[in-house]
Amino acid sequence: MLHRDYPALDCSVAKALEVIGERWSLLIVRSVMHGNRRFGEMQESLGIARNVLSARLQRLVDEEILERRAYQENPPRYEYFLTQKGLDLWPALIALLNWGDRYSPDPEGPRRLIVHKECGGTVSERGICEACGRVLTARDAKQVPGPGAEVKPDALTTAV
Ligand SMILES: [Zn+2]
Repeated sequence: MLHRDYPALDCSVAKALEVIGERWSLLIVRSVMHGNRRFGEMQESLGIARNVLSARLQRLVDEEILERRAYQENPPRYEYFLTQKGLDLWPALIALLNWGDRYSPDPEGPRRLIVHKECGGTVSERGICEACGRVLTARDAKQVPGPGAEVKPDALTTAV
């Protein structure tokens, strides 16, 4: 049985936070969504301590949000992939991103924009493409640098 922080709360928000409420956990999920599958890539993209990353990855695997697959045997090395349960966190991440942009905005504008891969339209906080109106999932979207990004828009990164 995994440790529970809110054993007295019979509430779905509390249940969700039992799984993804630890500091770093959602940022690790986001990092994997953006294509960082290996330990070193995640560590570099997040600037997180190795022991913390290691513990959070294990928890996310135990919770079946991430799946670990070996890509090398000797020494053993692993890549991490989102399960459907992990991919289904995408709407929550989009909502948090929009909330952060609204209430803790960067003076230069958002650092990252989420766009529809197919048409380039921006994705609303409800996960809908504002250009073509489609309801999107994590696989339909990619992240591009926004006006507040340090990297300029030609250095695009792919989500999922
Ligand atoms: Zn679109």
